[in-house]
Amino acid sequence: MNDIYNLLDFTPNKEQQKAIETTDGPLLIIAGPGSGKTQSLILRTVNLLANKKVKAKNILVCTFTEKAALQLRTRIANMIDNLDHRIDTSDIMINTIHGFCNEILREFTDVHPHLDRGFEVLDEVMQKFFINDNFNKILEDSTDESRYKKYLNKWKYKWRTIEGLIKYFNKLTQELISPEDLVFSGDKFFEELGYAYQNYRDLLSEKNYVDFAFLQFYLNDLLENKETEEELKNRFKYIMVDEFQDTNYIQETIIYKLIEKTNNICVVGDEDQSLYRFRGATVRNLLEFPKHFPEAEKVNLTINYRSHQQIIDIYNRFMKSLKWGNARFNKKIKPCRQNRMPFYNSVFKINEFDKSKQAKKVADFIEDLKTREVINDYSEVAILIDSVKGKYSDSFINALADKGIRSNCPRAKNYFQYEEIRYLLAAFVYIFEFDEKAVSYANDWRLYLEEIKFELKELLEEERYHSFSNWLREKRKYYKEIAEKKETTDENLLDVMYQMFEFKPFKKYLEDNSLSKYNLGIMSDLLAKFNKFYLKESQIITFRNVEYIPQRLFKSFFYVLHRSGLNEYEDREKILIKDHVSIMTIHQAKGLEFPVVIVSNLGKKTMQSGQLDKELKDFKHRKIFEDLNKINDFDYMRKYYVAFSRAENFLVLSKYRKNANPKIRPVWNMVKSLEEINKNDWDQVNINEKKDSKLKKQYSLTTDILVYDTCPRQYNFYKESGFTSSRRGGALFGSLVHETIEDVNKYCLEENNDKLSNEKIKEWYENNYDNLREHMQQSLAPNIKKEAFNQIIRYYKNNQELIEKISESELNISIEKPDYFISGKIDIILDDEGKYHLIDIKATKPEESEEKMEKYKFQLATYANLLKNKHEVNIENAMIYFTGAKNPEEAKVNISINDKDFKEANYKFDNIVKKIQNEKFALESFPPKKICRECDFRFFCNQY
Ligand code: SF4
Repeated sequence: MNDIYNLLDFTPNKEQQKAIETTDGPLLIIAGPGSGKTQSLILRTVNLLANKKVKAKNILVCTFTEKAALQLRTRIANMIDNLDHRIDTSDIMINTIHGFCNEILREFTDVHPHLDRGFEVLDEVMQKFFINDNFNKILEDSTDESRYKKYLNKWKYKWRTIEGLIKYFNKLTQELISPEDLVFSGDKFFEELGYAYQNYRDLLSEKNYVDFAFLQFYLNDLLENKETEEELKNRFKYIMVDEFQDTNYIQETIIYKLIEKTNNICVVGDEDQSLYRFRGATVRNLLEFPKHFPEAEKVNLTINYRSHQQIIDIYNRFMKSLKWGNARFNKKIKPCRQNRMPFYNSVFKINEFDKSKQAKKVADFIEDLKTREVINDYSEVAILIDSVKGKYSDSFINALADKGIRSNCPRAKNYFQYEEIRYLLAAFVYIFEFDEKAVSYANDWRLYLEEIKFELKELLEEERYHSFSNWLREKRKYYKEIAEKKETTDENLLDVMYQMFEFKPFKKYLEDNSLSKYNLGIMSDLLAKFNKFYLKESQIITFRNVEYIPQRLFKSFFYVLHRSGLNEYEDREKILIKDHVSIMTIHQAKGLEFPVVIVSNLGKKTMQSGQLDKELKDFKHRKIFEDLNKINDFDYMRKYYVAFSRAENFLVLSKYRKNANPKIRPVWNMVKSLEEINKNDWDQVNINEKKDSKLKKQYSLTTDILVYDTCPRQYNFYKESGFTSSRRGGALFGSLVHETIEDVNKYCLEENNDKLSNEKIKEWYENNYDNLREHMQQSLAPNIKKEAFNQIIRYYKNNQELIEKISESELNISIEKPDYFISGKIDIILDDEGKYHLIDIKATKPEESEEKMEKYKFQLATYANLLKNKHEVNIENAMIYFTGAKNPEEAKVNISINDKDFKEANYKFDNIVKKIQNEKFALESFPPKKICRECDFRFFCNQY
């Protein structure tokens, strides 16, 4: 490894070196905050690839977030590049555990008893609506109308029940507790819970859904299934799992099964930074690793390269103030001597008895840091709070705003406070004439609706919004008439939102890459989910649902999201925004670091935790590990340890209650003697501007490059800002034909072609149709559906010879380029006596437009390039197969590709990626009218 260290100009400390160079057998790495664990993991992987010659595809690295996975992938690839090794790192499986399970399950759907191809993963928000949608089927007769506690004799209200059930269901799945054990427990509540859980499982499977917990459960199934376990257990020779302290029982079970053939497992973690008990995580996985693998080597990364010595002293002392028993390794974090920062007071306190005064002091402090040029950008400051709900975050947002300082508080209840969201919801309230007085059960929500209605009214009085005002009036009239005349529209809620983009103020929100645009992108996703769950297949607005829509939208969907949902909503990595102070929860800050950290609301009481562990202890496979009476204290300490250790140069402890929480007293007393904030110390502080290392992203030919090539603006909306398309129809037809042809090809590749009957094809086709219909919430008219079947049968009947020669079907392929990864999916590769042919299937009639054919040529040349570079396969011939052609000759269109085409395709791909990376989304000219007419942004672009 010395050559590598020299080349990379990196000198590891002794423990880091051990972490990097101990590759075989079990290894436990205890990694304190800022101890260089990511660098060690990266170099360990580089060591495996470059020195140990381990194949990239035999390495699995599990990270805690998708962003961490992307970062790791990029840094490994860059390092391998710097070393001049010709190793393609794109085959390393680097993913979150959920992402990994998802990927493997998709590969094995044909043998999995509970999942079909195209299964959909329910995120935390959609899991709620799934249970809501199937509430009666899940609870069957476990409700008692006459009782005060109506549901399972435990909950009174439906939404409380849903939230409660989710906690139980996830826990049961993560702990591999069978519903039968609950049903026969002799306890009435558990018996009913057992039946409800069984119903939930069956419904998920019937509708081809999985929640996050079941992704893991089903992978565990594959590891117990004779047909698949061998293949999976032989696949990964080396496994590394980061943040092992935040894994749960089922994750540990999966990882240990996957690695049982070699035991080359390396787990990295810090029990002090365990934050996810509420998601089923347990520190015992990390703490008991040496018990599971007595031969394991142990590495202690305890030298901190991040924080000022005083900050490290504070959190060491904080952790020492509690008796941990078996819940902690004995360790102390030490500052790095070489990087030692000058002496200055780096820890301050703010003590106010009033929330807004506290916030004002924090804002003064931040403003002063900038004025004195201690910080270069407001994004160097983070305010960490317990929850981003308005109750906790509003005072900070307002105090900063009063000084003209922008802040970003993602996933907050705040989402509904953004101007664009308020106007948009108010517009829907107006159009559908929803009367907020109908919301009698939640005063704050009713107040909110009243407020936004009033704000919209005020806005519309301004002259510059008159066209929007007229449009709203017309729209309202239109729906009234639809109801009266019993008519049907051809638009859904999402279409209505996109229509609003023609007008100010929405037009303005979309003009730059602002947070407003991103928020509207989230709204498009929410409306699509509403359509799917509440309106099912008939997503369009008709006289039948025109009254139902606003009732469900405002009395249930947005009410629930406003109340609880969006805090957990996926934020697509938008946590850090330049020139904005980040206001986030301690959980969101995990894995991040900031020059200045303000930890606020320290007076808050400790929350109860571990309740489910206590309740379910008799059903679990392992005995309780941590002292149940102490777990609240443990969780509190760990959370604030994470918060304190995010700080590099300054840590400010802030509270507005008279008495600090008793747990915080040891640190509070330490800073008590200090000046509240000592500005004179700041002159000695030099905060270097933080630079985000450029991440190497993956670009797909069809979903990135071709979309950008068609219209960069459209690409920006859908891919960068996260807008969801409202388009319906065409996609279902294409997917149905594609998927069923894939079934045909795969069957013929693996089985005997002679055995394939029309009945078998019909069975696949119907099965695919049901799945696609469920997930796309669309259906096809009977004649169109029949046409899809005819196209599939024609393909099969007319191409017996071709099908016999298939050597690969639906081949996923990706390679690494200097600045990005390129990925694609090849429909068919034929092997004709050693000569290879590439085929792409299009479920359309033969294309006549030259422009389109040029695009197909680009697509095929790119795939051929990929095959050549990755598998050294030279393509002799490329072809597009149009399933919509009536006769076999018309269906096959050969496309000749020569060296010049390869080069051009390569150049074009590179060029488009460069433009995307440089955020070049401006239009040079409008695409053909046909494209714009099908685009959701046609109103914004005035191209309808
Ligand atoms: S309407 Fe046309 S120009 Fe506007 S984003 Fe869509 S495709 Fe692009």
